Amino acid sequence: MVISNGQIAKVICLACHNPIGDHKKRELWRCLFRIQGSIFNAKMEDKLETEDKGEKKPGFRGNPRH
Ligand SMILES: [Zn+2]
Repeated sequence: MVISNGQIAKVICLACHNPIGDHKKRELWRCLFRIQGSIFNAKMEDKLETEDKGEKKPGFRGNPRH
């Protein structure tokens, strides 16, 4: 898929909700880092949550006398 610069300029930035085309170069990098960071954080939280659940299941065996 080929995306032209004109199309990218109309895309709304997820970090500051302004069109990408309105960004200065420095703002664009900052927003890209913010977006990247939020995606990374979301993934980490997702992972931690599932790991937490996975840990509880085998750890909780119920009756120790059994
Ligand atoms: Zn932005």
